[in-house]
Amino acid sequence: MQLPENNLGSARQWDAQDPLNAFREQFLIPKVEQTPIVYFTGNSLGLQPVDAEAAIKRELEDWARFGVEGHFHARHPWFSYHERFGAGAASVVGARLEEVVLMNQLTSNLHFLLISFYRPKGRRVKILMEHGPFPSDRYALASQIALHGLDPGECLVEMQPREGEYLLRTDDILAKINEMGDELALVLFGGVNYFTGQAFNMEAITAKAHEMGAFAGFDLAHAAGNIPLQLHDWNVDFACWCTYKYLNSGPGSVGGAFVHERHLNSGLPRLAGWWGHDKKTRFQMGPDFSPMPTAEGWQVSNAPVFNMVVHGIALAQFVQAGMERLRAKSLLLTGYAEAIIDEINDKHLAGLQIITPRDPAQRGCQLSIVAPVKGKTIYNRLTERAVSVDWREPSVIRMAPVPMYNSFEDVFRFGEILKECLGVRA
Ligand SMILES: *Cc1c(COP(=O)(O)O)cnc(C)c1O
Repeated sequence: MQLPENNLGSARQWDAQDPLNAFREQFLIPKVEQTPIVYFTGNSLGLQPVDAEAAIKRELEDWARFGVEGHFHARHPWFSYHERFGAGAASVVGARLEEVVLMNQLTSNLHFLLISFYRPKGRRVKILMEHGPFPSDRYALASQIALHGLDPGECLVEMQPREGEYLLRTDDILAKINEMGDELALVLFGGVNYFTGQAFNMEAITAKAHEMGAFAGFDLAHAAGNIPLQLHDWNVDFACWCTYKYLNSGPGSVGGAFVHERHLNSGLPRLAGWWGHDKKTRFQMGPDFSPMPTAEGWQVSNAPVFNMVVHGIALAQFVQAGMERLRAKSLLLTGYAEAIIDEINDKHLAGLQIITPRDPAQRGCQLSIVAPVKGKTIYNRLTERAVSVDWREPSVIRMAPVPMYNSFEDVFRFGEILKECLGVRA
């Protein structure tokens, strides 16, 4: 892969030729003394689209103007508000329109979907999860197991990496699924692990889980808007994601859910509420629940409009930029960051170790760097110099150059500042 050279001129030249370069202007980048910071924490909270404020104001105006009639007369009627997002969300996660819905928030959606897809029976009671999952997922899984009167200590199995390794090998994952056989009810992995940045082979994991008679679901918090996804074609049973990380929709914004077509009307149990009821007869207010024949049938409440409004802006940007172009730029940006970190490491024996897979096919834009000596000090120094990265105990600095608004110049500046922080300014 051809990358920019490690100098400012080259980085700027690549920015000038970047077909997505103009998107940077559509975001509010925090500044220190008039200079935009190097914002590499879009994996944690994406930046605010410039148009967000006007979009929120429009909903406030419509509420003031129409009151309850806004459900039908607002510029984006609230009755069908979530329908605005179907096509965009389907394109981001590789789904059919009827397979996706925007509702609730991430961990809530995981719970709702587990009610449908974790159905322990007889010997088949176990859930396999990745090593070191995001804690919320572990809590959710353990509590669902307990809800069935089972013991999370026995039923929740954490896939371990080999001795001395951080990453999980696909072959080992598949072998583990095979070994669990008819005790396995569900495989629930992140699409991309939040700590290591490893992207898992969702297609292979799903196929193996199915071979064993189990379901496969994915938490796409770190995958949606980051890596190309084909949930429908991969036969994934269900998935959920948040929209405030790579999808730039604001703190605590609405979550997404995917249910594969084959499960939409297969009679899986679910928790019901009026917004999951068929919209044609919803307002007859009858006693019997008759679900929407789409993923919308998993909704329970009416749309939280103010929690969704920015997602409309953010999704439109994803559709306009296109996941293919975003991925192409992402490979370059992260490859550039990797090359610069390697160069600093080699020249100055800095002792930094990138634990994220070196194979671009097995990662998104995030790089996780173990700094065994003085890691926290390096992190603090980066922060003092207006570089936004984060620190994960015990020794990892996570950085995510996102293709939507980060530039090659950001990556170059990061390298220069990193050298200062290591005290090796050459
Ligand atoms: C960010 C993240 C969460 C956060 O959950 P919320 O319900 O949105 O607060 C959960 N799981 C994973 C894997 C995450 O990365």
